[in-house]
Amino acid sequence: MPITKTSERVNINKRRIINGEDADVIQLYPMKHTFAWTAYNVGNANHWLPTEITMQNDIEQWKAPNVLTPDERAAFKTVLGFFTTGDSIAANNIVLAAYRHVTSPECRMYLLRQAYEEAIHTHSYQYIVESLGLDEGEIFNMYREVDAIYNKDEFILSFNEGLFNPAFKTGTLAADQKFVENMIVFSIIMEGIFFYSSFAVMFGFQRQNKMVGSAEQIQYIMRDESQHLNFGINIINGIKEEQPEVWTPDFQTHAVDLIRKGTELEYTFAREVFPKGIFGMNADSFKEYIQYIADRRLVRIGLPVQYGSQNPFPWMSEAIDLSKEKNFFETRVTEYSTGGTLEW
Ligand code: FE
Repeated sequence: MPITKTSERVNINKRRIINGEDADVIQLYPMKHTFAWTAYNVGNANHWLPTEITMQNDIEQWKAPNVLTPDERAAFKTVLGFFTTGDSIAANNIVLAAYRHVTSPECRMYLLRQAYEEAIHTHSYQYIVESLGLDEGEIFNMYREVDAIYNKDEFILSFNEGLFNPAFKTGTLAADQKFVENMIVFSIIMEGIFFYSSFAVMFGFQRQNKMVGSAEQIQYIMRDESQHLNFGINIINGIKEEQPEVWTPDFQTHAVDLIRKGTELEYTFAREVFPKGIFGMNADSFKEYIQYIADRRLVRIGLPVQYGSQNPFPWMSEAIDLSKEKNFFETRVTEYSTGGTLEW
């Protein structure tokens, strides 16, 4: 969009998450969507890189004949197979779809940070595969070969068409609802539900003192993802405030249906991948856990609870399901928070 020479300063009230083309989309100040700036700063403070985590123990355990059972090896690989696709899909959606339509410069700032974090996560899976000497072809092709992964990815990717279309523009009721639908699918379902049975399995390994380097990486990823989810929720709730006409009863029903479908796909995934359960977590408890997670997501965007399930893995709340920004990796994280000064 061309700029006009003017002495009129940017008006914060014209700033919109989407459809704010009239306001400035270039300059950060004055900020309106301060949640995005907070998220950006939290992301920076939480910065990490996969290569900082030692994989020595994991390498020895993976090579040893008796440390991991065949079921555990299969679960580890399938979970990794899903992870390798998840963050690439999220990154593509940010860069090729969401970013183009977001008109708040501070929200764009966070999307840039988030896109980089998705790259770090994909790097992390590559690093695990390489460290353990796994067959890259096997792991990275799983989403096309393993039904349980294919079904989840296929569901998500079927929503790409609208926003990826170069001709797509927000500004009509249908298009704005399409944008919010995209946020619900990618943020609430993909980042907020589809990762969670896999997170639970990785924490299962960690609790047995197995594959702790890999599990530690997944903990960092989970912490980033909980921020991505928070940001997605703020975007959805922010659009609801700025454009309440988008949130029709029909659209709410549609959103609930999508989240229910995602929930079902996720516990089907867990049941297919861990038919006998793993680390004392059985197929039914995965279902309950995923339903419990889904209910929490629904409530945060103002939709009604669907399942009323209890959390069967209370230990996960500590490790995974951060309700607030809990800094449980004090050591490494604070190094970034305070280590920002470069010496030349
Ligand atoms: Fe993400």
